[in-house]
Amino acid sequence: MPLLQTHSLVKTYMNGDVTTPVLHSLDFDVQAGEFVALMGPSGSGKSTLMHILGFLDRPTSGSYRFADVEVGSLSDDERAMRRRTDVGFIFQAFHLLPRLSALENVMLPLVYQGVSLGERRSRAKKLLVDVGLGERLDHLPNQLSGGQKQRVAIARALVTDPKVIFADEPTGNLDSVSSGQVLHLLRDLNAAGKTIVMVTHEPEAAAFAKRVVKMRDGHIVE
Ligand code: ADP
Ligand code: MG
Repeated sequence: MPLLQTHSLVKTYMNGDVTTPVLHSLDFDVQAGEFVALMGPSGSGKSTLMHILGFLDRPTSGSYRFADVEVGSLSDDERAMRRRTDVGFIFQAFHLLPRLSALENVMLPLVYQGVSLGERRSRAKKLLVDVGLGERLDHLPNQLSGGQKQRVAIARALVTDPKVIFADEPTGNLDSVSSGQVLHLLRDLNAAGKTIVMVTHEPEAAAFAKRVVKMRDGHIVE
């Protein structure tokens, strides 16, 4: 049984009179333990698909099963809960909170899970040490390089021990050295068992994945 499975997934954006069909009857599976790269031209629907898979958006029609649960039949509260516990996101633009330190950014997702302050601090600290930022715990995001910010974002995505990490162009804003560090981290995480789905348009980044899926105009083409 796949960890993620879409069947005939359709997404059409509707703004007033304008309808934009984005995903056309998409069938896509990810098994637990995979590292999948999703490639395709700009506008082909990669981010839209990731947002649906990560419970950030809803499909217009079709089925999405996560760990054998039909997501469309969950209540808004249940979906919000899964978004906080079952998935971690890494974005191209990092999306760290600017007034919080690296440590506080990583601790934040645990607030919503009722984890005690001491436990939040120790789990976040361990993850920051793991990504090589043990000396930067109290730095604010604007005191960190792009690559360091993305490593904080990776620690934040991991802190709830999610079933899957979604990374949307995680190296899109990074120089080649920082990109390499981030990609090696993702590969190590996958080797330790974490399921990863990564959007990228860079073949060098996709080469870190075990499987490459290509999208075009809202279809999976190979
Ligand atoms: P990709 O990540 O592959 O570049 P996206 O999923 O971001 O593609 O976008 C796919 C298409 O959907 C694009 O044509 C984009 O303009 C359109 N789109 C994305 N978000 C919205 C929205 N909120 N409303 C209307 N159209 C959107
Ligand atoms: Mg995108």
